[in-house]
Amino acid sequence: MKPPAEFYRLYEGLPRQGPGSDDVTREALRRLGPLPPSPRVLDLGCGSGRQTLVLAQELQTRVLAVDNHEPFLRDLECRAAAASLSHLVETKSGDMGDLCVPEGSVDLIWSEGAIYIIGFENGLRTWRPWLGPCGKLAVTECSWLVERPPVEIKAFFDVGYPDMRSVGGNRERAARAGFAVADTLSLPASAWWDDYYRPLLARLDAVEAEAERDAVLARVIAEARQEIDLFTRFGSTYGYVFYLCQKS
Ligand code: SAH
Repeated sequence: MKPPAEFYRLYEGLPRQGPGSDDVTREALRRLGPLPPSPRVLDLGCGSGRQTLVLAQELQTRVLAVDNHEPFLRDLECRAAAASLSHLVETKSGDMGDLCVPEGSVDLIWSEGAIYIIGFENGLRTWRPWLGPCGKLAVTECSWLVERPPVEIKAFFDVGYPDMRSVGGNRERAARAGFAVADTLSLPASAWWDDYYRPLLARLDAVEAEAERDAVLARVIAEARQEIDLFTRFGSTYGYVFYLCQKS
């Protein structure tokens, strides 16, 4: 089920819709190692596509960027044009868990801040057949970074995302889904703040007044503020981690 329109009021037009940075995308790509010439690339849950543009630029290949919210795709198309990358960016409106992708037709699957929507292990299992025999996959997933998280943050995610695992737990889930995790990369705090939480906070302030007349908007604002507050206090105990995988 898609979130309410009020939710998109917070996230449309932001630099990105989840934690990440161009530098981390580049570093993940570097660590992933060699790809075939002109690799066929899918970016799933692309949002307005910051990482799509980095992939297109770095790989100089066509990237198929998929999202189920069309305004994000229109935004990505504008950004691709502004960066003279339109010829390398193809957008597709669709459900990342239910796409018609021919078996073995992809060399690289990328997904930042989105696989949780269909579940980490389920996503890996669903996407695996689309990759060729030497296919690679890079996904970010919110993960516990300590063995015993403080009660307050544990309680928050027990309700909001009970499926959250440690890095070791996600390695095991990847192995069960038919992937070897060659490397992992933890996002630095700057990748949460610079292009995500800081612009989001500015947006929250900008729409706050309207929330007096709009209960749904008030709720999504409060949820976003709570999430940011918790990250400020407990951000050393969990974080987004890149899982750099090879089909096994
Ligand atoms: N990769 C982007 C966006 C991450 S937010 C970034 O890092 O900035 C998650 C994205 O997944 C949103 O753009 C949302 O619209 C999209 N999304 C949610 N459910 C989806 C689904 N079932 N299929 C495709 N995209 C989906």
